[in-house]
Amino acid sequence: MRVIAVFNHKGGVGKTTTVANLGAGLARRGRRVLLVDIDPQACLSVHFGLNPESTERTIYDVLCRDLPFSDAVRELEGPALLGVPSHLDLAGAELELATTMGRERLLRDALDRYLEANRDLDYVLFDCPPSLGILTVNALAAADEVFVPLQTEFLALRGVGKLVDVVTLVRRRLNPTVRITGILPTLSRTGTLLAREVQEEIARHFGSKVFKTRIRSNVKLAEAPSHGQSIFAYAPGSAGAEDYAALAGEVDVMDVPHRVIAPREPEILVDEILARVERPSA
Ligand code: ADP
Ligand code: MG
Repeated sequence: MRVIAVFNHKGGVGKTTTVANLGAGLARRGRRVLLVDIDPQACLSVHFGLNPESTERTIYDVLCRDLPFSDAVRELEGPALLGVPSHLDLAGAELELATTMGRERLLRDALDRYLEANRDLDYVLFDCPPSLGILTVNALAAADEVFVPLQTEFLALRGVGKLVDVVTLVRRRLNPTVRITGILPTLSRTGTLLAREVQEEIARHFGSKVFKTRIRSNVKLAEAPSHGQSIFAYAPGSAGAEDYAALAGEVDVMDVPHRVIAPREPEILVDEILARVERPSA
C-alpha cells in the first residue's frame, strides 16, 4: 500500500486534477484507490459530482467530530475508486482544532484504523489545500510520499524551497517516513521554448525524481469536473487521458518502499494477559 500526498502550496498547479485522474488511472489498472479531499474548497469532491455544502459525513466530521473514517468513505467512480469528500466547514478546522491535543496526527490516526481493516487498498491519495496550515501538516504526517505538481511556466520553482522545507520539518518532527518521491510537470504547452527551459530547470533541481510523463495542457481536463467525471469517463481519447494513463503506469512501477500495515493485536489478548497477571498460578 502507498499513501501519497499531492502537495504544492501554490494554487492552480494541477493538484486536484492529478489526484482525480491519477487515481482513476490507477483504478483502471486494477488497483484499489482511495482519494481523500482535505481542501476546504472541496474541488476534488465537486469533480466527482458531490456538493461541498450539503454532503454529509466528510473529512470535516472525521477530523473535527471524531466520525470513524470508514463512515466517510464512498464510491466515486466504480467500486475501485473510493473517496472521502470535503466540506466547506473544513475552512474553520484551523481554529476548531487550535486546542486539540495531537492535532497534527488526527488524519494519520483516523486513517491507520481504517487501513487496518481495509488492507486490500493499494493507494491512498490526499488532495492538499493550497496553503501551509494544519490540514497540510496532517496530510504530510499521514503520508509516506509526496508528489509535487509544478506548472511549467516562468517562476515555476518560486516557493519550492519553502515547500521542501515544510516536508523536511514534518519528517524531522512528525513522520520520519515522508519524502518527496515525484515531481510532476503540469499544464505544459509542449514545444514552446519557455516550457522546455522550465522543464530543464526542474530537472536540474530535482533530477531523477521528475516523472517522465508531462501533463500537457488539455481543455478536456478542465471540462471533466463539470461533468462529474474523471478524464477516462469523460474523454477517453483525449491527450489528458493519454497523459494520466501514462502517469498511472509510471507511478505503479516506482521502486519505493510500500507501507506495511502491521496486524493489530487481538484485543482479547489484553484481557488474557491481565487475567494471568491477576492469577499468576493459573
Ligand atoms: P490546484 O488543485 O493545484 O489548485 P487544479 O487541478 O484545480 O489545481 O487546476 C487548476 C485549473 O486548471 C482547474 O480549472 C483545472 O481544471 C485546470 N487544469 C488543471 N490541469 C490542466 C491541464 N493539464 N490542462 C488544462 N487545464 C488544466
Ligand atoms: Mg485543488
